[in-house]
Amino acid sequence: MVPPQPAAAGAGRAALPARIALVAVADAALAGALAGVVDLGVVLARTPPGAGALPATALIVLGLAIAGVALTGAPLILLVRLLGRHPQVHSFGRRIATPGPDRVTALAGLAIAFGVLAALWVAGFAVARFAHAAYNSSTGSALLTATVGLGAQVVAVLLATAIAPRLTGWLGRRRWLVRATSGLPVGLGLAVVVSAALVTGDRLLRARFHSWDPVPAYAWAAAAIAVVVAAMVRPGERIGRRAIAVSGGLTLIVIAALIAAGAAPAARGAIMASAVISQGALRTLHRLADRDGDGYAGALGGSDCDDGDRAVHPAARERAGNRRDDNCVGGDGGVAPPAAVAAPGGVAGNVLLITIDSVRADHTSAYGYRRPTTPVLAGLAGRGVRFERAETASPTTRRALPALLFGRYPSTLPFDPATRMPRLLPHALPTLAGELAGAGYRTHAIFSVGGLLDDTALAGFASSEALTRYGRGYQRPDNAAEVTDRALAWLARPAPTPWFLWIHYFDPHHPYETPPGAPHFGDQPMDHHDAEIAHVDAQIGRLLAGVEGAGAALVVITADHGEAFGERGVSFHGKNLHEEQTRVPLVIATVGGAPSAPRALATPVSLVDVAPTVLDLAGVALPAGMNGRSLAAAVLGTGPVPARPVVLELVRDRFVDRRMLAIVDGDHKLIWDLDAGAMTAFDLRRDPGERDDLIATPLGAVLRATLGATLDRELGAP
Ligand SMILES: [Zn+2]
Repeated sequence: MVPPQPAAAGAGRAALPARIALVAVADAALAGALAGVVDLGVVLARTPPGAGALPATALIVLGLAIAGVALTGAPLILLVRLLGRHPQVHSFGRRIATPGPDRVTALAGLAIAFGVLAALWVAGFAVARFAHAAYNSSTGSALLTATVGLGAQVVAVLLATAIAPRLTGWLGRRRWLVRATSGLPVGLGLAVVVSAALVTGDRLLRARFHSWDPVPAYAWAAAAIAVVVAAMVRPGERIGRRAIAVSGGLTLIVIAALIAAGAAPAARGAIMASAVISQGALRTLHRLADRDGDGYAGALGGSDCDDGDRAVHPAARERAGNRRDDNCVGGDGGVAPPAAVAAPGGVAGNVLLITIDSVRADHTSAYGYRRPTTPVLAGLAGRGVRFERAETASPTTRRALPALLFGRYPSTLPFDPATRMPRLLPHALPTLAGELAGAGYRTHAIFSVGGLLDDTALAGFASSEALTRYGRGYQRPDNAAEVTDRALAWLARPAPTPWFLWIHYFDPHHPYETPPGAPHFGDQPMDHHDAEIAHVDAQIGRLLAGVEGAGAALVVITADHGEAFGERGVSFHGKNLHEEQTRVPLVIATVGGAPSAPRALATPVSLVDVAPTVLDLAGVALPAGMNGRSLAAAVLGTGPVPARPVVLELVRDRFVDRRMLAIVDGDHKLIWDLDAGAMTAFDLRRDPGERDDLIATPLGAVLRATLGATLDRELGAP
């Protein structure tokens, strides 16, 4: 029974603000349900989970979108409603439909509402960035962002209710404005303008930020539109039975979604991989549920196995013998990394290491690509060894190249967490260049683009040079020809000692653009990328001819990581640990000497193996502590590739917002999404596209055990 309201006869204008707020929350929840449907569409288009996980995924996406939009959208609906209560902007839709001063005031009100919304988004983004940078505790930064955001919304509502009516009223009295909006249907014109602005903005953002992904923006825009539509539907400001039934139903969905979120890892994995609104809600929930502040929750499917101990979480390094499972996998394991190995008596003299940015193995004709992208690499493989399953240690340049130079997996390297580009804390770790220099080699590095690594990562190189610098003002560093010229110039300097030269070509990295003189494969992004690979390959041909003319050299050619082209809705790299981003070419051969019989070896190897292999072939003793194994026997044809699971990592930093680990063991791969608390397993031989998740099969259980033992052994703390 609702007692009669004294002012009820005075229409919605007299309704109590508290009541309006409640209706606003109910409307926002309804808008959340609409947004959830959009979000589910995004998930199904990008990473459809297996049929078994589909109902749970749908429920969680819907429930989390309802909860997320209800909490964040309610203040906006309240703002629209409070604006609508004022006589000047009352009955919004009718006013926009009728030419005249009322249309001007209504449109002005709409513009102000969207202006306030945009300002809130920008401010919220700035606060979130600041909080993320200033606080190590994710709970602290989430609370700060939420508090400031709430305060900003309250201030915005107050400002809007005080200023908007006066401003819109004043605009409504401008005759030229009334005339200007009285002609053709303004709504249509407005829709055209807004669409054009969206398309232009999207193009500008893509040109400015090469890794701009429009889907999250579209999903959030859909959510915002759903919120505004829900506000304009105006089912009445009295809380009727229908509103209560709707709110009750939506609340039940949210509760069911929270329960399902804790119980359905495959659904969490799909949401973390590609949902937008529900992913944000799930991350926020995990942050709030993270009791010990180590970045991982124990509840709601979070992967922290002891949420009362900051030192125990899935990204921790295992410490042997403390009777504790520090990294939540594999028990209290941990074995010391390989010890030093004496030099076997080397065969290599000069060493040329070439890395190309962003080249996946299956885009090189050396690995069977349909386009003739790499005839030079194929020719080199024809006189040496081609590793068919070579994996990067991490699909970002900043982690992969140090892993290659140090022969260590990224999370065992002392990266300084405070810096934007990776900088290592003071260390005395052995490096490929340092050990070669110690053995009398002249060492040098040439970068197509500088700033990716600093002197802490380049330890051991006597000198290095970069043609351009990454960051502000960097546009399209297609400079493979210039890099090659510099390399030939360096090699032309006479010196009595053997040399080690490392060259990093950047051309195939996005943005993609077919270089002058390169083959024209087409006008799609991938066509340009392939043309850049072909261009670099031709330059490598020029370089190898120069090297051959000057004597013999051991040549190692690989890439720092692969590149995605829409697989699982993902472009570029550094986004997940699937093969398109992780599997790279790796060819080792001698030029200027007698060719060996060509061999293709299928045992998985890693970029961390390059350093010990080159040292071994150069006759330099292997230092202790490297994760890599020497492939020298396989290169010389005197023994097999050492078989062991290789580790892949995605490390969270200022550019990467996910933590993932994976192993490739023979034909099989297991990927652990630490944020989602979910594992997936694949048979790479039968299912190279990694579509058929085998984690629930006996193979999944075997791989899970292998993962625990491997991570403890390879990434464990000394
Ligand atoms: Zn790269």
